[in-house]
Amino acid sequence: MLSYDDSPEAVELAERAHELMEEVVLPKERELKGGMSVSEGTIEELRDAARDYGVYCPQISEEYGGMGYSFRDALPLFEEAGRSILGEEAMHVDAPDEGNMHTLELLGTELQKEQYLKPLVEGKLVSGFCMTEPMQGGGSDPKMLQTTAEKDGDDWVINGHKWWTTNGIRADFLLVFARTDQEAHPYDGCSMFIVPAEADGVEVVRNIPHMGAAIDVHGHAEITFDDVRIPEEHLLGEEGKGFTHVQQRLGPARLTHCMRYSGMAQRSLDIAKAYMSEREAFGTPIADKQAPRHEIANRRTELAAARALVRQVADEIDAGGEARVGVSMAKTFTANATQEAIDTALQFCGGNGIAKDLPISDFYERVRQFRLVDGADEVHRHVIARDAFEDVDEAELEAITRFRE
Ligand SMILES: Cc1cc2nc3c(=O)[nH]c(=O)nc-3n(C[C@H](O)[C@H](O)[C@H](O)COP(=O)(O)OP(=O)(O)OC[C@H]3O[C@@H](n4cnc5c(N)ncnc54)[C@H](O)[C@@H]3O)c2cc1C
Repeated sequence: MLSYDDSPEAVELAERAHELMEEVVLPKERELKGGMSVSEGTIEELRDAARDYGVYCPQISEEYGGMGYSFRDALPLFEEAGRSILGEEAMHVDAPDEGNMHTLELLGTELQKEQYLKPLVEGKLVSGFCMTEPMQGGGSDPKMLQTTAEKDGDDWVINGHKWWTTNGIRADFLLVFARTDQEAHPYDGCSMFIVPAEADGVEVVRNIPHMGAAIDVHGHAEITFDDVRIPEEHLLGEEGKGFTHVQQRLGPARLTHCMRYSGMAQRSLDIAKAYMSEREAFGTPIADKQAPRHEIANRRTELAAARALVRQVADEIDAGGEARVGVSMAKTFTANATQEAIDTALQFCGGNGIAKDLPISDFYERVRQFRLVDGADEVHRHVIARDAFEDVDEAELEAITRFRE
């Protein structure tokens, strides 16, 4: 096996997470065969087990109920958690709560941390993150944001329309991104707010019907905001700095997403290897045939490259960097590598790949969204390419022949 330059603390934490997955989470997943609808009671049981194994919310400071691991040291655990759709909720490293916890820890006032972060970590509250809007609001281009927040006395009044808010239907509070200065460029005129879901004027219109909904326990909601009045203490971070704050949230959140999906892809390959080793066709096990073996080898190599890249970028973030281009590279590369790996695994399991007895078809439905969420491939490639073309060296073309020169 490759080693990935993880600290001894990170390795130990991931090993404990592996034990939880092998001994508690995967047996529960297999018991639920044929459908992943899970009761709140089951999630509570799994969370208690995660606490017992010492792997519950490792990424948050101890004073707010976590375990105080650095972002980089917690990262390998996310891959373990991703090996089952139940794993991330068990360890409470699931999106969007995990990214929202990070945002609240980084930007929240002590009062906000007391009221929202602590109970979120404990699992007593559920959160949503409201950035994306329906056409022609903000999507791939967040500068198109239409939702507004206007100051009225000591209150903010929010009006707008969001959708794809993961967990929206059951969230107790929402982190809402809105324009606070209509005249300013959006980069200087947007802010983030903590909005209680029960506030007057917040309406969860529906859960959006979507691919993979059967395993997507809590769904993604469309939500409207009509004259929603919240006190000024609900501003999260600095007024007008919303875009900076969103980047602070999304950089690490994209990397933890990469790790969860790497775990899902690795598990798919592990299942496929088991199937290919036992299943015979044309006189030999499928695992003995060269073409399928090479496919597995290629996917394994791509996953190893994804893991290494994610860690390199995480090191940069841990050292205080924004790592914008690195995050885009890691996110795009991993989204494509994991999609390919799960597709390959599904292929070599034959009909069992499509059946719901094994989790691969669920993983297949889930992984497709990864090339869209947190920025579509094309948007990240734009970021990478823009940076690539910043250091064009004209001297490289000195030797070429030009027309009539
Ligand atoms: C399952 C799921 C969960 C989500 N959860 C959340 C959430 O919790 N909170 C939240 O705020 N949002 C969430 N989203 C929204 C997600 O972040 C957006 O869907 C994503 O940012 C793309 O925005 P859009 O859907 O408006 O696509 P559009 O902006 O309409 O873009 C459509 C397509 O155009 C292409 N494109 C866009 N820009 C360019 C370009 N510059 N060059 C070339 N091609 C381009 C891309 O292929 C892109 O997919 C979620 C989405 C999904 C599917």
